[in-house]
This record gives sequence, C-alpha cells and structure tokens, in this order.
Amino acid sequence: MHGGSIGSFVVSDIQDNLARIKANMAQALAQAGRNNDDAQLIAVSKTNPVEAIQNALKAGQRVFGENRVQEAALKFPALRDDYPDLKLHLIGPLQTNKVRDAVALFDVIHTLDRPKLARALADEMRRVGKMPDLLLQVNTGLEAQKAGVAPDQAETLLKIAQDYGLPVIGLMCIPPVDQDPSPHFAMLRQLGAKLGLKTLSMGMSDDYPVALEHGANLIRVGSAIFGARNYPA
Ligand SMILES: *Cc1c(COP(=O)(O)O)cnc(C)c1O
Repeated sequence: MHGGSIGSFVVSDIQDNLARIKANMAQALAQAGRNNDDAQLIAVSKTNPVEAIQNALKAGQRVFGENRVQEAALKFPALRDDYPDLKLHLIGPLQTNKVRDAVALFDVIHTLDRPKLARALADEMRRVGKMPDLLLQVNTGLEAQKAGVAPDQAETLLKIAQDYGLPVIGLMCIPPVDQDPSPHFAMLRQLGAKLGLKTLSMGMSDDYPVALEHGANLIRVGSAIFGARNYPA
C-alpha cells in the first residue's frame, strides 16, 4: 500500500495520506470517547528528503519527528526559517555527546532513559536557557537491544530528572515488533497514571488506532505518510 520509492511521492500523495490518517485518528478518538484535540500526529520524516517534508508542510502538517540528531540538523533549520511554527520531536536514542545539538534543535525529546542523560540535559538546558519538553522512554518489553528505562525503574528516573528541574511531561514506548502492542500501551498508560505524567507517546503506522484507544496523546507515524523507507532506520 505504501510501496514505491520516495521519488514517486508527490504533494498529493502525502496530502492524501495525512488526510486519511487524520480521519482515522478522529474516528479512533471518537470511539474511545475522547476529544479530537486530545492527540497530535507527529510526522516521522527520518530517512526522507527535505522535499518530502516540504510537501507535508504544504499540506498543513507542522509537527515532525526525527530519530537522529545529525540528520535532523541537516534538514530542519532551513525549514524553520520558512515555517516558524514548525515543531520538531526527537524520537530516537540520545547520546550525551549529542545533547548540545539536541537541545538546540528539538522542541520535545521523547527518549530520556537514564540518569546520566538527565544530568547532561539539565546542564545544557541551564547553560543555554532553553527547555525542551521531555518524555521518559520506557522499555515495556524489557528488550535487551532496545533503549528505555525498565518499567520498575521509571519512578526512580523521574525523581532524578525532577530533582534536576527537568520538564518531564510524559512517557514513550516502542512495543516489541513481534507482539500485540495492546498490553504495552496499557502498561504505559497505567504507569503514566501512577507517576502523574499525562502525555503518552505511543503508536506508529501499523498500530496508531489501537494506541489511541489506549490513551495515546502523541502518535508517531512515518511510512503511512511518506511511504516505505529506502533503508531501515
Ligand atoms: C521510525 C519510527 C516511527 C515511525 O515508524 P512507522 O512504522 O514508519 O510509522 C515511530 N517511532 C519511532 C521511535 C521510530 O523510530
């Protein structure tokens, strides 16, 4: 359905995809008895060229997600000149040596997952006086290869981050690819309620309606907007 190279993707395709996803979002939210403005669509543009992002901007999309700091740094500063209301979310793992660039570039960082990173973010935010909103990434599937704090360590990490004065607004998860995502979404929601964190970042191209049923506030959708990526990121 999303096949073909990005070269064949034109404004109307991206416009149609965004319209379809927005309609699906509205339906899922209504079915769950939620307000339409309860959830925001993050267009995940990783691996896609600037032209594709420009097409999404022309279609009215303003919120984007990237998973690599350096890739975002190459693509987004020029776009922000033309679209000052553009918002950029970091959804990929963050190394402490990229914290400076990340704080400069992003409005929201979804991947705080360890005390050392909390410390580095606090130092940098204080230094430059800019405070992107933060989410704790939770490794709900306890996958060894995946980033994220273990669910039973999330409260401790939150306390550490709050002691540093960091603006933690929510939780993010990426369920294991080979599992039903529902229990993971339910776990994240439960953990958010327990910790008093209201913003839930969960749901991707294949499962965002399910995530919305489970209370997602930020859905991260890439290939359903931009088409299949040329290489896995
Ligand atoms: C790539 C990515 C997405 C988007 O994935 P799609 O399946 O293309 O929608 C969402 N979240 C994270 C963390 C990602 O890295």
